Amino acid sequence: MLYQHILFATDFSEDAMQVGERAKDIARLCGARLGMIHVIEDINISLGGGYELLPVLADLPDEALLRESRSLLGDLAQRLGLENAETWVVNAPSTKEGILGAAQAHGADLIVVGSHGRHGLALLLGSTANAVLHGAQCDVLAVRIRN
Ligand code: AMP
Repeated sequence: MLYQHILFATDFSEDAMQVGERAKDIARLCGARLGMIHVIEDINISLGGGYELLPVLADLPDEALLRESRSLLGDLAQRLGLENAETWVVNAPSTKEGILGAAQAHGADLIVVGSHGRHGLALLLGSTANAVLHGAQCDVLAVRIRN
């Protein structure tokens, strides 16, 4: 089998459906499991403990944010016709670490991301896509997003 476990990473940007449809098609062709992940970056961790300088951000991510992300991920799964897909909302020091950690923990053999999302609109390859591509131990598909 070409791929057995595909992980589709989403930031809920406009192009999420386009990327998700591609992940879904590949999963169907391969008869692979498909999981969906959204990472909430833990600002407290990524700032190395200096977060008391940023009181406005100090309480992120909170329960409300987690709940909202879970709900958005569920909605996206439904719109893609992937009601049975596994969905994970992960809190990690960086999006890259969250995606790569989950891919390893769940034995994913293909990670599917958009070529750029919220952060990289002006770029050919966004920063998350680039970081995942460089750090992954499995294959990575960066679905080309056209502006
Ligand atoms: P970026 O490189 O940040 O512009 O985003 C490129 C792609 O990385 C997006 O299309 C998503 O597939 C993925 N991505 C970005 N941020 C996240 C996130 N917080 N959680 C999961 N996937 C993400």
